[in-house]
Amino acid sequence: MTVVDCVFCRIISGEIPTDFLHNDDLVVAFRDITPKAPTHILLMPREHVVAAADLTDAHGPMLGRLFAVAANLARDTGIAESGFRLVTNSGKGAGQSVPHLHFHLLGGRPMRWPPG
Ligand code: AMP
Repeated sequence: MTVVDCVFCRIISGEIPTDFLHNDDLVVAFRDITPKAPTHILLMPREHVVAAADLTDAHGPMLGRLFAVAANLARDTGIAESGFRLVTNSGKGAGQSVPHLHFHLLGGRPMRWPPG
């Protein structure tokens, strides 16, 4: 389902031109517009799932694909060896600003723990 006022649905549909790093029947990946690390890639389902809080068993194939794509992109961008973070913010209280499920693949600099 495409949600007309969702910026990520508009990117996925091609309405907003984007250089995809990955684009298949289940997931897409493209660079974050305001990167928070030297490598900052967003991965998300084509389907408009609002947040991780809405995930069910039925999303298993999509999530499996998404994590495999993230690992491939981490290797391709050279951050697999140095270390990377793969995170999602679920809900405004966690810092989610775009209500279309997405994972941040971050690397290329030291990461602190716990996150703020
Ligand atoms: P979050 O705050 O976890 O919901 O993450 C949303 C991310 O989407 C932020 O890091 C934004 O910089 C990024 N973002 C918002 N609009 C775009 C866009 N048009 N293209 C690429 N990244 C975007």
